[in-house]
Amino acid sequence: MKSRSEELYQRAVTCMPGGVNSPVRAYQSVGSYPRFMKQASGSRITDVDGKTYIDYVNSWGPMILGHNDPRIREAVIKAAEKGLSFGAATEKEVEMAELIAKLVPSIEMIRMVNSGTEAVMSAIRLARGYTERDKIIKFAGCYHGHSDSLLVKAGSGVMTSGVPDSAGVPEGCARDTLTAVYNDLSSVESLLEENPEQVAAVIVEPVAANMGVVEPNERFLEGLRQLCTKHGALLIFDEVITGFRLGISGAQGYYGVKPDLTTFGKIIGGGMPVGAYGGSREIMNHVAPVGTVYQAGTLSGNPIAMAAGYEELCILKKHPEIYHHINKMGEKYRDGMKKILNKYELPYAVTGVGSLACLFFTETPVHNYEDAKKSDTKAFAEYFLYMLNHGIHFAPSQFEAIFFSYAHTDVDLEETLHLADRYWNGKRQER
Ligand SMILES: *Cc1c(COP(=O)(O)O)cnc(C)c1O
Repeated sequence: MKSRSEELYQRAVTCMPGGVNSPVRAYQSVGSYPRFMKQASGSRITDVDGKTYIDYVNSWGPMILGHNDPRIREAVIKAAEKGLSFGAATEKEVEMAELIAKLVPSIEMIRMVNSGTEAVMSAIRLARGYTERDKIIKFAGCYHGHSDSLLVKAGSGVMTSGVPDSAGVPEGCARDTLTAVYNDLSSVESLLEENPEQVAAVIVEPVAANMGVVEPNERFLEGLRQLCTKHGALLIFDEVITGFRLGISGAQGYYGVKPDLTTFGKIIGGGMPVGAYGGSREIMNHVAPVGTVYQAGTLSGNPIAMAAGYEELCILKKHPEIYHHINKMGEKYRDGMKKILNKYELPYAVTGVGSLACLFFTETPVHNYEDAKKSDTKAFAEYFLYMLNHGIHFAPSQFEAIFFSYAHTDVDLEETLHLADRYWNGKRQER
């Protein structure tokens, strides 16, 4: 008999591309069909067949307090009672901007938008308008949303002219995107030198969390800061994942490196669709209506989204023990997983920082996209399906992060590690 998820999937594929509204939700790469979810609470998520999983996707990051936190829910309900959207300025937007500026030292001014994609797209336009330069440098394997100029493929080594990663991206858009190698400062330096006074910005995920999780090497971010300053390019930290996750002031606080512009998403919406970009007053004053860089949004700063995000940030600010807990969970997971890998003599790499973690099915350590691509994605898929069938919901791809939330408990973690151990024990018996 077919499950409800299978039934829904069959209907969905006839009316939605791939049956999903975002490709990352498809189970194509793991050879299955998506589990359709109906509700979630704390560390658990439940599918339409009534099966409950320990959830490590956490809506890809926003649910840092755990699913359906009553305080966020209340804030949303209270806001909704007053109206869903005004298309006009509200008090909450001011409170939100003041709060973010207070928590993140590099930010004096911020503009709210509706997604991470929009935040990055706008920050890039601002960097280009501000510097009056066209080119940007990104890193192979870093994801910055799906706007044209950022969907540029990672080739082997440094590429001087971009090749579009997606059909429908004009060559002209991709040409101004230069691709460097993550954790390799010399690749950035070469591009900056080969394109003198042409690079508007270097954009980076301060912890790369969209090719699995790849940590920055010790001097990488600081080195980028110096290179950008030297060459007059802006440094953009895409903190859509790391913002308010690595700590209350994000990766820039964690690593002590100050970018010129920062983009946010995910956590700052508390589960609602939100993005934001911000920086110094000097740069941000180039944005319309005061400046010449145009950017607008009918639903930007939406009262419901602001209520959810503001409440979430206030809770994070008031309760530093949240970071202590989620970081500890990440650490325990990494330690526990390494022990299991040792026990079964598996060469795989366990990576991560704080509450972000990843298990790479590789034979070698992972420092960049080329390393990450060596993963045995078939082995991942088999492991993934075993874990899913036993009640663990990971992202259905090798190249995504595991997200810990404040709702994850030691019991959740032990169960997860216990299942992983059982999986490899079973594999050993097979051999
Ligand atoms: C998720 C993500 C984005 C895109 O955000 P959306 O809200 O999905 O548009 C951009 N940058 C990074 C680092 C992300 O993880």
